[in-house]
Amino acid sequence: MSQLTGNRVRTTAVKLGLPHLAEALSQYVRRADEAKMGYLDLIDLVLADELAVREDRRFRQGLRTSKLPHHKTLDAYDFSFQPEIDPRKVKDLATLSFIEAKANAALLGPPGAGKTHIAVGLAVAACRAGYSIYFTSLDDMVRNLKAAEIAGRLTSKLGTYLRPGVLVVDEVGYQPLERAEANLVFQVISKRYEKRSIILTSNKTFSEWSQVFGDEVLATAILDRLLHHCDVISINGPSYRLKNRLAAIERDTNAA
Ligand code: ADP
Ligand code: MG
Repeated sequence: MSQLTGNRVRTTAVKLGLPHLAEALSQYVRRADEAKMGYLDLIDLVLADELAVREDRRFRQGLRTSKLPHHKTLDAYDFSFQPEIDPRKVKDLATLSFIEAKANAALLGPPGAGKTHIAVGLAVAACRAGYSIYFTSLDDMVRNLKAAEIAGRLTSKLGTYLRPGVLVVDEVGYQPLERAEANLVFQVISKRYEKRSIILTSNKTFSEWSQVFGDEVLATAILDRLLHHCDVISINGPSYRLKNRLAAIERDTNAA
C-alpha cells in the first residue's frame, strides 16, 4: 500500500465516521497479506469490527446515562440461593421480548431478595441490545416531578421518565405517597402504557399498593395499566445481604 493511498483511506475513513479503520489500517493490510484474505473477507472483517466498536461505545455511553446503581448481570445472580424463583422465568425476560412488546416486568419480595439485582441485570441486557435505559427509585422520581411542577417545568421533567425505552422504577412502596404524588406516578405509568416498558421492584404485594398510593381509585388505575401486560416474579426467599452477615455473627457467637 503506498503511503499516499494509506493516508487517503485514513482521511476518508474518518470523514465517513469509521475511526477504527483509520487507526488500524496497517494492521488490517498486514493481516490480509499474512492470511491471504480474499477482498470480500477483508471488507467483512473491517465492517464487523467497526460495528462492534460502535456498539460497544454506544453501550458504555448508554450505561453512563442510565443512572443504574451498578452494572451487575444476570450471570452473577445465584439462583440456587433463591430456589423459589424459576430461572426459566428470568431467562425468558432476558430475551427482552417483553420490551419489544412494550410490556412490563415486576419483581416483588422482601429486602435483600435480589430484586434490584435482577432489574439491573435486565436493564444492562436491554442497554446492550440498544434500548435507552433510565433508573430511578420511586421516591426520587416523585421528588423530582414535584419540584419540577412547582417550578412550572413538569412537562419537560416528565420527559426524563417518558423518553427512555426502559424505565426502571426501584423500591415502590418503601414510603407511602400523598394523593398529589401518586397522581404524578399515574401520569408516568399511563403515558408509558403500551408505548414503552417499565421494570419495577417492590417490597409490597399489589394488594398493599392502595396503602402506598394513599388512594384506592388511583392505586387501581395505576395497577390496571401496569399489570395489563406484565410479567411478575415474586421472590419470597431469604436476604442475600444477611446471608454472609448471619453466618459471621453465628461464628463469632459460637467462638465466644
Ligand atoms: P433487593 O433489591 O431485593 O433489596 P438487591 O438486589 O439489592 O436486593 O440484593 C442485595 C445484594 O445481594 C446485592 O449486592 C445483590 O447483588 C446481592 N444478591 C442478592 N441476591 C443474590 C443472588 N441470588 N445471587 C447473587 N447475588 C445476590
Ligand atoms: Mg432493592
